[in-house]
Amino acid sequence: MVSRVIPVDPFDLVIFGGTGDLARRKILPGLFRRFVAGQMPPDSRIVGAARSDLDDAGYRALAEAAIAEFVTEAKRDPAAIAAFLDRLRYVAIDARGDGGWAALGALMRPGVVRAFYFSVAPALFGDLAERLHAHGIADGASRIVVEKPFGRDLASAKALNRVLAGHFAESQIYRIDHYLGKETVQNLMAVRFANILFEPIWKAQYVDHVQITVAETVGVEGRGAYYDTSGAMRDMVQNHMMQLLCLIAMEPPYHFDPNAVRDEKLKVIRALDPVQPQDIVRGQYLAGGGQGGYLEHSGNPASRTESYVALKVSVSNWRWKGTPFYLRTGKRLRSRYSEIAITFKEPPHAIFDGEKGWRDNVLVIRLQPNEGMKLMVMIKEPGPGGMRLVQVPLDMSFAEALGEEGSDMPDAYERLIMDVIRGNQTLFMRGDEVEAAWAWADPVIAGWEERGTRPQGYDPGSSGPEDALMLLHRDGRRWREIKE
Ligand code: NAD
Repeated sequence: MVSRVIPVDPFDLVIFGGTGDLARRKILPGLFRRFVAGQMPPDSRIVGAARSDLDDAGYRALAEAAIAEFVTEAKRDPAAIAAFLDRLRYVAIDARGDGGWAALGALMRPGVVRAFYFSVAPALFGDLAERLHAHGIADGASRIVVEKPFGRDLASAKALNRVLAGHFAESQIYRIDHYLGKETVQNLMAVRFANILFEPIWKAQYVDHVQITVAETVGVEGRGAYYDTSGAMRDMVQNHMMQLLCLIAMEPPYHFDPNAVRDEKLKVIRALDPVQPQDIVRGQYLAGGGQGGYLEHSGNPASRTESYVALKVSVSNWRWKGTPFYLRTGKRLRSRYSEIAITFKEPPHAIFDGEKGWRDNVLVIRLQPNEGMKLMVMIKEPGPGGMRLVQVPLDMSFAEALGEEGSDMPDAYERLIMDVIRGNQTLFMRGDEVEAAWAWADPVIAGWEERGTRPQGYDPGSSGPEDALMLLHRDGRRWREIKE
């Protein structure tokens, strides 16, 4: 299959926080890969803007090291690296002062797309927005990209939205949720809305339940102090997992248009029932395998922050009433494994002999590792000896189905940054969506803070706390295995 790369318009992209961890690991390597793919016009420019006292040469050296560390060797053609580095500039800037702003303004060119990536702490968003306008650097056509966390509750998210809205229209604000940039997640929409096959049965009448799992093997070591102020609910559920749930549950939008899609997602969030205490399990990983537990890693021996959470979520609308969505995410689990599994109901009448409870059709959407989809179907076991049924996967691993293109899919950040330049907000969260998701999550968090309950300990390398199993057992269901 021939890859189709449509170049974007020439741009000036300023990365505030351009020397930070995110810029080094994701933004610069991602831009380089788009450059190699031919999507970034040669007359585009990337400006690093941060506190460090660097010059253009120093920033290029930083970017070169980031490419060496985070781009696969096959893509590191020296000529391409040199041409890419040539696109880079650097301005030392103070978000809270006046230093550097005039120099930044002087670098901006007329007639090209102007985008500003706020890869800094959210506390600086207001300072950046204000100074971009005070110095005449941003105008009504400029775009800003903001990173998570977008608030830590409804009040702080509203405050951030207000700060940004004071300087930019909603159509200029791109709130990143990198899960939406994952190829598989977009494929979920393609599979749902570009085929006749699934949509007629995509409802409570035919779907028994949905499971969304985001399992990580890493703990919080290294960023424990930050994580301890957040926890799994804020760090994963309110944003990434909520977005996945929305894409599964939403009604077909009238068109694949940013506001049409986001309107439908918002309706899902608004239809969520409040989560009851008995429908939540929180966990904290224990020490083991020669490593410390959460309490050591967070540096807070009395911490009640969860490194694992499982919830049963109900969407109260015509389509989904009665079909539970089970969400779970955690750190230091058995494997790094993320998937969405949609389990369909059994056929209404069994004409073949056999055990009950294993005839489920399951659509599994794998986010990592090996992005892909498979549909579990029942077929006849080959050979004589009567009708014995066996469950087999119809497998659509993208790497196999799409050849080289499938194994070399753009990283979520690459895709999303190109969407910013194109001016396409479909895969970015709108302000009202973020607020609605916090309005749903806030009472859950407030509830356990009020009750002061401790998360349940779980062994590292396990599939989470014991109580999480009960969440499904009591409904006559079980979690899918977290694979090795
Ligand atoms: P970092 O601490 O590594 O880098 C921060 C950057 O901000 C540096 O370039 C620093 O020079 C700059 N900076 C700090 N204060 C400044 C000031 N007053 N004026 C100008 N520049 C200033 O942070 P990071 O990990 O790169 O994260 C950046 C943002 O991205 C944060 O909002 C973070 O929550 C978010 N984020 C990061 C990751 C990640 O993997 N690192 C993932 C998701 C979201």
